[in-house]
Amino acid sequence: MSKMNFNSNTTLREPTELVARGLAAVADLPDLEKVAARYAVAVTPDMAALIDPDDPDDPIARQFIPSVQELVREPSEDPDPIGDHAHSPVAGIVHRYPDRVLFKLVHVCAVYCRFCFRREMVGPGKGTALSQGAYDNALAYIRAHSEIWEVILTGGDPLMLSPRRLAEIMADIATIDHVRIIRIHTRVPVADPARISAEMIAALKVGGATTWVALHANHARELTDRARAACAGIIDAGIPMVSQSVLLRGVNDNAAALEALMRALVECRIKPYYLHHGDLAPGTSHLRTTLEQGQELMRVLRGRVSGLCQPDYVLDIPGGHGKAPVGPTYLSHPNSAGRELSSETRYRIVDYCGDVHFYPPKP
Ligand code: SF4
Repeated sequence: MSKMNFNSNTTLREPTELVARGLAAVADLPDLEKVAARYAVAVTPDMAALIDPDDPDDPIARQFIPSVQELVREPSEDPDPIGDHAHSPVAGIVHRYPDRVLFKLVHVCAVYCRFCFRREMVGPGKGTALSQGAYDNALAYIRAHSEIWEVILTGGDPLMLSPRRLAEIMADIATIDHVRIIRIHTRVPVADPARISAEMIAALKVGGATTWVALHANHARELTDRARAACAGIIDAGIPMVSQSVLLRGVNDNAAALEALMRALVECRIKPYYLHHGDLAPGTSHLRTTLEQGQELMRVLRGRVSGLCQPDYVLDIPGGHGKAPVGPTYLSHPNSAGRELSSETRYRIVDYCGDVHFYPPKP
């Protein structure tokens, strides 16, 4: 099939379309059909345009083009790797920490990331949008729990909603007095920046609560001119942005790639927030690094970029126990306090070059 048979303005959803665009090999088609039958596929025109079809290791392709390796399932992998279900008191809500909830409104995304930790729950046919009754129940749950200070809209991708529906939802949440922050997690500004219209930006702002937007980006190349303009539109409207990235083998698991990503985000006025260690989602082992590799990369990053560019390296503890920082440690405690100061009893601290220094405990 000729490449010309497909409109380059169309999101690619079928392995045959990926082959026709030269983004997958025809010989892999039977395996890719098996993967696509299990996990959703979508590559937006913006992301497809970034992929170099002649580079077998293209970091954008690794994130979005399915691989036969996704059929490999390790025993430690879990369809609910961060334990959402264990903390879901009503449909659509995950209440893991006292002062905040996830509010999962939709199960669709602009793109489907091959490493997605909710891959068993997102995509066409994987779930249903909340019914009006379930939506009302979720709002009632938030209203009844006065400890909830922050509502995090996630999914799927909440910016797949129409601006009109999103504005209604933002207004519903903002009427709850104790909710002060509405945080929106999205990949849309990079994956499909055209969706960030003036109407969408207006929908993000609401009286009665402060909106934050958390952008998911994993490689500096994702921050195209169009993506940067979309983010600038959000920030210029007075909405602060942070980022979250996933440490991915073959995508950003080297110091140069991480440095470029974090610098690009800060240049866009987006504060790097989290670098997630890859979750134990089924069929994603080929994209995970070791924790030791992640710690070493964070150590190197600390020596190369300013604090503005430093995300927290975190692991979502399987079973729903929340996030834990898993970055390198720089400070070792003295063996026992109160002893005469010596190199043994003083704190041991490592600088950004890796050199060791000592610091006295308070007498
Ligand atoms: S955009 Fe987020 S929820 Fe959607 S597939 Fe990617 S990682 Fe998963």
